[in-house]
Amino acid sequence: MNLQYIKEDKCTICGCDVIIKEYIELDVCNKLKYREHCQGGRWEHRMFACGQELSYIPNFNKTTLSDYGKCTNNKEYKMQLQKRKDFINKLKAFIKDTDDNVDDKFKYNVLENIKYLT
Ligand SMILES: [Zn+2]
Repeated sequence: MNLQYIKEDKCTICGCDVIIKEYIELDVCNKLKYREHCQGGRWEHRMFACGQELSYIPNFNKTTLSDYGKCTNNKEYKMQLQKRKDFINKLKAFIKDTDDNVDDKFKYNVLENIKYLT
């Protein structure tokens, strides 16, 4: 695909150059046309094998790191994921060990739904 605005062909964090997905957002009313900003430019996206997605947002007139696809080689991101995992484990232990007057079925439901937290 020929992206006009995203020039980076490597992940800006780890240097991964394997592109696994690219796309240009389509116009909601006319799927045969690209979505265009009223002052020019279009929304482009490029994702690398490491998981990082770059997005060009015409409102800001620059390419940014997407919040939806994060580089799995990013040390800060790995640390954030580990902290979240530790927190979830503490939360699960608290729910299992609490001796409040909460029935086991409710505890089970809460524990089952924790997996939806990210
Ligand atoms: Zn990367």
